[in-house]
Amino acid sequence: MTQFDLVIQNGTVVTATDTIRCDVGVKDGRISSLAERLTDAHEFVDADGMFVLPGGVDAHVHLDEPPFYGVLLNDSYETGTRAAAHGGTTTIISFAQQQKGRPLRESLDDYHAKADGNAVVDYGFHIILTDPSEQVANEEIPALIKDGYTSYKCFMTYDGYLDDGQILRTMEVAKREGAMVMIHAENEHCIRHMAKRFDDAGETSLGSFSKMAPMCVEREGTHRAISMSELIDVPILIVHVSGREAMDQIRWGQDRGLKIYGETCPQYLMFTDEVYDKEGWEGAKFLFAPPPRDAENPDALWRGIATGMFQVISSDHNAFQFDSTSGKKAGGSEPHFRQVAPGIPGIEARLALVFSEGVSRGRIDINTFVATTATNPAKIYGLYPRKGTIAVGADADIAIWDPEKRQTITHDLLHEEVDFTPYEGVEIKGWPIKVYSRGELIVSDGEFVGESGRGEFLRRNRINVQPAQGQPVRGN
Ligand code: MN
Ligand code: MN
Repeated sequence: MTQFDLVIQNGTVVTATDTIRCDVGVKDGRISSLAERLTDAHEFVDADGMFVLPGGVDAHVHLDEPPFYGVLLNDSYETGTRAAAHGGTTTIISFAQQQKGRPLRESLDDYHAKADGNAVVDYGFHIILTDPSEQVANEEIPALIKDGYTSYKCFMTYDGYLDDGQILRTMEVAKREGAMVMIHAENEHCIRHMAKRFDDAGETSLGSFSKMAPMCVEREGTHRAISMSELIDVPILIVHVSGREAMDQIRWGQDRGLKIYGETCPQYLMFTDEVYDKEGWEGAKFLFAPPPRDAENPDALWRGIATGMFQVISSDHNAFQFDSTSGKKAGGSEPHFRQVAPGIPGIEARLALVFSEGVSRGRIDINTFVATTATNPAKIYGLYPRKGTIAVGADADIAIWDPEKRQTITHDLLHEEVDFTPYEGVEIKGWPIKVYSRGELIVSDGEFVGESGRGEFLRRNRINVQPAQGQPVRGN
C-alpha cells in the first residue's frame, strides 16, 4: 500500500515559528509526515524554490448578508470562496447576522443555506449580535458555543449598535462559556454628531467621511472596549484597527497583561486619506470604515505587525459593486460622504498584498506573515491546530507560494464577483501557484480545479484558554 496520497518535495516549509527544507506527506486529507525525504506516494509535486505555506485563514469576511446602506454584497459563498482560494486562502470565517426577534439558530440556518454546498473552502461563522438580551445571552449563545459558533461580534457604531451594557453582557457569556468577543470600536455618537455638522455645512464630499470619524473616535471606542474587557476579565479582539491612536490603546492594554488582540487589514497598510481627494466618485472605491489615516500611519501599522502587537490581518471583504446604481452609487447622483456603502473587496489579494508589501519589501519576516494571516486567526478563533499551520495531523491546507512571481493586480486578474478592485495597478511580488484544501488540489496556476460546493462547515473549539495547548487535532 502506498504510504502517501501526495508528497510535496523540495520546498521550504514555513510556519509561524520555523522555516525548514523538508518534504510534506499527505494522506487522507491530512498532513501525515514531515521529513527530509519522502518517497512512497501516488503523486509527487516539486516545490523547489517555492515556499510551502499553510493555506490562509481569513477571519473577517462578509458574504451574502442583508443590504447595507441599501446595497447588497455581490459575492455569494461560491464566488467569494473561489476568489479566496485563488489567493491562497483555504479557510474563512464569515459573519452571520442575528435578526432581532428571531432565535439565533434560525438566523444561522439562513447562512448555512447560503454556504452549505456552495462554499469551496472550509468556513465558520462569527455571529453579529444586534440584540443580546438576557435570554439570548443565557440560553441561545451557550447552546451555539457548544455547536462550534465560538465568536460574537459587537458593533459600537452603525444603526443597531450595542450599548455598553449589552457589550458587557456579551463579554460575560463569552467568559463563562469560552468564546471570543470581537469589537468594531468607533463611537457612534461622535460620528453622528460630526456627520450632522458636515451635512449642515454642505460639506458633503467624500473627504468628510474620514473627517467625521477621525482617529480619536476609534481611540475612544478601543479604550472603552479594553476597559470592559479588563472589568470582565475576558479576552477580546479589536477588529480592523486603522490607526496608531487605537494601537496605542491596545499596546497599553497588552502591556498591562490584558488579553487584547488586534486585527488590521491590507487597506490600512496600502491607503491614506488622500484617496478621498480623487475626482468625482473615484474615492468611493476606497470608502471603508474606519477610514484610512494620514501618511505616517501605514508605517506605524507595519511596526505594530512586526512587533507582535497585531495578531491578525484579515480582508474585511465587502463586495459592493461600484458602478452599478445598486452599488456604491445607489445613494444618489452625486457622491455624498454619508450615503456611500462603506466596505471594499479584498478576499483574493489579501495574502499577496501582505507578502509582497511585507515580506518581499523586508518589513516583516515570512514567519510573521504566516502567523498573522493563518496561524494566529486559527488559534484565536478555535481552529488550531487543524487549520493555520503545517504540522503532522493538521488538515492538508497548503499554498505553494512562488516568492518571485510578479503580477500587477487588475480587476481582470481577480475572481471576486464585483466590478472593481481598490488595488488596481498594485505590483505584486509573490503569488500562490498551487493551493490545496484537505489534500485536494483546488487551484493550479490560476485555474480553479476543485469541486464546486466542496467546502465544509467548521465547528470551532471553545476559546478563552490558550487554544493550542492540550487539544487533540480533532478536538472540535
Ligand atoms: Mn466593521
Ligand atoms: Mn467588517
